[in-house]
Amino acid sequence: MSLWSGRAGCWYVRYRLFRCRKAPVGVCVYCGRPFCHDHGRFLPNEAAVCNHPDCARRLVEIGEFKAYKLEAEARNLAGACGHPDCPAEVWGQCSRCRRLFCEGHLSEVYEVYYQLGRRQRRYFSVCPYCRRFYKT
Ligand SMILES: [Zn+2]
Ligand SMILES: [Zn+2]
Ligand SMILES: [Zn+2]
Ligand SMILES: [Zn+2]
Repeated sequence: MSLWSGRAGCWYVRYRLFRCRKAPVGVCVYCGRPFCHDHGRFLPNEAAVCNHPDCARRLVEIGEFKAYKLEAEARNLAGACGHPDCPAEVWGQCSRCRRLFCEGHLSEVYEVYYQLGRRQRRYFSVCPYCRRFYKT
């Protein structure tokens, strides 16, 4: 257990006061906190995730995203837009999930970046599902 010597214990703190005293068994891939057997888990793909609400939410989001991509991919293989129940022909690709969509289901968003100290915008197309991950 020399790996953990000198490090903080499990991340879990009860009522902001009682820190969990159990020995950590892994480190969360999302937040980097060490966790014990009770306050985190190992996924089938061996990734370790703690029980913190933020990380649990992220895990659900990733699971949903995977399911969404599979569904859209199946629709694309049949030549249809990746959006559920949309019969329109594909027009372009979403730059986040990389699935194909019709013109009506792709919207333009932008990301701000800086080049030579100047504020620039980079535009790209995303599907309705991925749209919510962008503020613009
Ligand atoms: Zn975490
Ligand atoms: Zn713990
Ligand atoms: Zn998308
Ligand atoms: Zn569509």
